Amino acid sequence: MDLDFDRNHIWHPYSSLIDPPPVYPVERAEGVRIYLEDGRGLIDGMSSWWSALHGYNVPELNSAMQAQMEKMSHVMFGGLTHEPAIELCRKLVAITPAPLQRVFLADSGSVSVEVAIKMALQYWQSQGRGEKCKLLALRNGYHGDTFGAMATCDPVTGMHHLFAGQLTQHFFAPAPQPKFGEACADEDIAELRQLIEQHHNELAAVIQEPIVQGAGGMRFYSAEYLRRVRELCDEHELLLIADEIATGFGRSGELFACEHAGICPDILTLGKALTGGTMTLAAALCTDKVADGICRGEAGVFMHGPTFMGNPLACAVASASIDLLLHGPWQQRVAAIESHMRQALAPLQDSAAVADVRSLGAIGVVEMREPVNMMQVQEALIERGVWLRPFGKLVYTMPPYVISEQDLGQLTTAMVDVLGAL
Ligand SMILES: *Cc1c(COP(=O)(O)O)cnc(C)c1O
Repeated sequence: MDLDFDRNHIWHPYSSLIDPPPVYPVERAEGVRIYLEDGRGLIDGMSSWWSALHGYNVPELNSAMQAQMEKMSHVMFGGLTHEPAIELCRKLVAITPAPLQRVFLADSGSVSVEVAIKMALQYWQSQGRGEKCKLLALRNGYHGDTFGAMATCDPVTGMHHLFAGQLTQHFFAPAPQPKFGEACADEDIAELRQLIEQHHNELAAVIQEPIVQGAGGMRFYSAEYLRRVRELCDEHELLLIADEIATGFGRSGELFACEHAGICPDILTLGKALTGGTMTLAAALCTDKVADGICRGEAGVFMHGPTFMGNPLACAVASASIDLLLHGPWQQRVAAIESHMRQALAPLQDSAAVADVRSLGAIGVVEMREPVNMMQVQEALIERGVWLRPFGKLVYTMPPYVISEQDLGQLTTAMVDVLGAL
């Protein structure tokens, strides 16, 4: 592959084009492995950023795409509809909490967050309460890279403080302190409560990642905290937006992380694993109350409509991915990954360079005391046949659910060897 051309002309995520770090040329991917051009196979501990639940080159997903391709890859969604969209939305309505009945299909996670925010703003505008246009988000949160989404990411430790002057100023509560499995005391939610009590007349919605804060810190927090946020939203007339783009489809041990708390948001965003890691697709679901509120307002319609909305190929493969997930023993697989990681990563707890080791569902996190040298750690892991992408102090893994005990062992052993030596 012409890596010089790549270096000189192609942006990668969060990359520089002046002396960029090496990127590894990938030839193909199969099962849980990514194969480099030189033939080396790497166990993908990232599931290509939370998405490849079933691993790669999955026959069921390939044939769903092939069959759909023979009929049509795409048609516009304005004034037209098709079976792949109807089938997918029927499934999404069936498997998400019951009050979520209305589905908006979007192109990527960030866009679905934009859509969710717009839904919340348009809902209050339609009620004659346009002053309710701010959001309350959590510190350590991450909701995407587009402007509306950026404005809800952690304003200090997030990746977007350069744009602070151009972003809508929202309200931020401290990151939840009680951990997953712990109770939530009054003082744990006091600041968030105070912000809501003071500002509910300006607030359209609370937006948060339920249970697992992903890219903004890989933190697992108390289900009771989430329940109390839901109660506060109800008490003070705020919508609750749950961003399950990372957690959706079983990653945290429940099909959707909201289920840990037994709550239902007013708006839910999905992405990443929606198509099993094959194509870009996302969705924002909302309740009848939100949809009716929007459509009875001045505009009479929801003001959004992407060119590639409801792409049939993506919908067809998303449907196949959901079927494959639900017809397989995903809960046992995720539970087995969780218990393996608990045991296998535990020795790192005694390492002086390690601040914390934690796992939930099929997510394992090693938080170091200092930011790691990403290239150095990545190279050492590659030598051990493993692909991870550390971020700051966080070295984490969320492997495909189908990973074998042996491959999982190779993955966690590599983490323990490499991180234990730092
Ligand atoms: C990845 C992610 C997004 C953004 O999705 P993209 O597809 O990268 O635009 C938004 N919210 C959460 C919680 C995410 O993990």
